[in-house]
Amino acid sequence: MSPFVTVKDEGGGKLSAVPYNVAFKDDMTSVSLSLKKAAEAIKSPEEAAFKTYLLAASQSFLDNNWQPADEAWSKMNAENSKWYLRIGPDETYDDPCSRKANFHVSFALINKGSLAWQKKLDPLKNDMEKAIAAVGGKPYKARDVSFHLPDFIEVALNAGDSRPPHGATIGQSLPNWGPVANEGRGRTVAMTNFYQDADSKADHKTQAESMFCADTMNRWVENEDARLLDTLLHEASHNLGPSHEYKVKGKTDDQIFGGPLASMLEELKAQTGSLFYGEYLLNKGVLDKALVEQSHLTFTTWAFGHISNGMRDAQGKSKPYSQLAAIQLGYLIKEKAAVWSPEKMAANGKDKGCMTIDTAKFRAAVPKLAKTVVGVKARGDKKLAEQLVKDYVDGKAATDLHKIIAERWLRAPKASFIYSVKVD
Ligand SMILES: [Zn+2]
Repeated sequence: MSPFVTVKDEGGGKLSAVPYNVAFKDDMTSVSLSLKKAAEAIKSPEEAAFKTYLLAASQSFLDNNWQPADEAWSKMNAENSKWYLRIGPDETYDDPCSRKANFHVSFALINKGSLAWQKKLDPLKNDMEKAIAAVGGKPYKARDVSFHLPDFIEVALNAGDSRPPHGATIGQSLPNWGPVANEGRGRTVAMTNFYQDADSKADHKTQAESMFCADTMNRWVENEDARLLDTLLHEASHNLGPSHEYKVKGKTDDQIFGGPLASMLEELKAQTGSLFYGEYLLNKGVLDKALVEQSHLTFTTWAFGHISNGMRDAQGKSKPYSQLAAIQLGYLIKEKAAVWSPEKMAANGKDKGCMTIDTAKFRAAVPKLAKTVVGVKARGDKKLAEQLVKDYVDGKAATDLHKIIAERWLRAPKASFIYSVKVD
C-alpha cells in the first residue's frame, strides 16, 4: 500500500484507502498556496532551481503525486542554490507499522564547507565500495556506486515530523521511494548547527567527565570536525556495501532478518562504515591521525548518548541507534579497546567506575568489527545478527553497564535547539 494514503475504518470490518490530498485537503491546499507564493517572490535567476522545486512541491500538495517534486528537488545542490528545503511526507519512523510517511519541513542554509569534502571523497567512491565489499566477504560483490556525498546544512526551520520534542535528526537521505531514490539520484544532508550552543557544549563535557577516566578525558575535546566527519561518513556508508535492496538467495534484508532487525543492521553498517572509512581515509593520507583518533572519543560519547535512551521503546519496539551503539561498544570492550574500571574514579572525581579508550586497540578493532557487521549483511547471517543482540544488547554485563551509562548521562537536561543561522 502507498505510504501516501491513510487507512479509514468504514465500519463492519471494512477498511478503505484515502489519499493524503483527500484526507487532509484543507491543510494541503493551504501549504500548496504558500509554496506557490514563495516561488513567485523569487526573482533572482541564481535561485531558478529552488523556484522550480517550490512550484513542483506546490503541485504535489494538490495531487499527492510526489515524483515530480522529487525530480525537481534532486536537481538542487550546494552549487546552484543557497538554500535547502524539503517539504512533504517522508519518514515513517513515527507510524506504528513504519508504513505511512509523515509530513515535515526542513528549511536551511547550505554550508559550503561540504564542497571541500565532496571534492576529496568523490574520486574515491568506487574504491570505498571495493574496500567494504572486501571486508564483508562473499557472496557480496562490489557494485558500481553512484551517490551524492552529503551537503552540510544549517537548519533555520524544522517543523512537523522534523521537530520532535527532544533532539533532532542530524543526517538524512531522501527520498525514500520512487525513481529518484531507486536510481541513486537522491540527496543526503548533514545538519551542522545542532548541539553547538554554549549550554549544550557545557552539558556534553560534564557528561563525558562522568564516564571517562582522567587519562581518556584529557584527550577529549569538543571537536566539530570529528562530529561532521562521522555524520558524513555514516550517510555515505548507507550507499556502500550491502544495502536494503541487496539480496541473498533472492531475499532482501527485510525478508531475511525481519523489519526491525534489518533496520538496525543497516544503521549498524552505516555507523561501522563511518569508523571503517575513518581508518581507510587515514591510510590514504586524506585524513590526519589526530582527527581520526579524536573521532574515536566523539564516537564513544555518541554511543553513550544513544545507550542512555534505552534499547526499546514503551511498546517494546527496538531502537536501532541504541542497539547498534550497544553492539559497537560491546565489541570494543571485547577487544579491550574500551576498558571499564569499576574501582577507578571518573574524571569528574565524583563517580566511581570509569572508561578508558585505548587508541591503538580501537584502531585494530575497527576492521574486525567491519568484517563482522558487513559480513552479517553480505551473507544474510541471521544467526550471528541475533547473537550480537543477545550478547551486546541484552547480555548481563552489557545491561549492567547500560544502567550506569543511563544514570550518569541522563543527569544532564535534554538539549533544546537554537535555530539560528548567519545568512552573510
Ligand atoms: Zn543512518
